[in-house]
Amino acid sequence: MNDEHIEERPSWRCRSCGEPWPCDQAQANLAATLSPTALRIHMWIRLEIAAQDMPQGLPSEMFERFLRWTG
Ligand SMILES: [Zn+2]
Repeated sequence: MNDEHIEERPSWRCRSCGEPWPCDQAQANLAATLSPTALRIHMWIRLEIAAQDMPQGLPSEMFERFLRWTG
């Protein structure tokens, strides 16, 4: 059983459930373990890495996916 919901690179799909990362469970796990500020910093870093892996991604969509949910 794998409940870590970690991203696979360079596809940025969840290794556990296959949804685009961060999947719902990844969001829940991160929100439960990081403070709101640390969560935003963590997701900014992930976004920068993801943007390098997925240069075709639209910045607005990447922002929605990685940062909107952090509040
Ligand atoms: Zn997942």
